[in-house]
Amino acid sequence: MICPICRDLERDFAAGLTEYVAARSSASYNVSKSFAAKRNVDMERARYDLEEHRLVCVSAARLFALLPKPDITTSLRQLAA
Ligand SMILES: [Zn+2]
Repeated sequence: MICPICRDLERDFAAGLTEYVAARSSASYNVSKSFAAKRNVDMERARYDLEEHRLVCVSAARLFALLPKPDITTSLRQLAA
């Protein structure tokens, strides 16, 4: 089960990213970069909030524990070959 705080922060970050991309690709970007810069700050703030929460989130820790881990012995064998 996903954490509702993670879900909200991910949604905020995705919205901020979408707004930043739209601001960067708008016709007014070359005239005034301050609007895109403000969207960039908002997006980075949302990303930072999400990363900060994930450091303490039990739900996110469980997800990372379930992800497959790279086989380091295979990687070392491939480097040695
Ligand atoms: Zn969470």
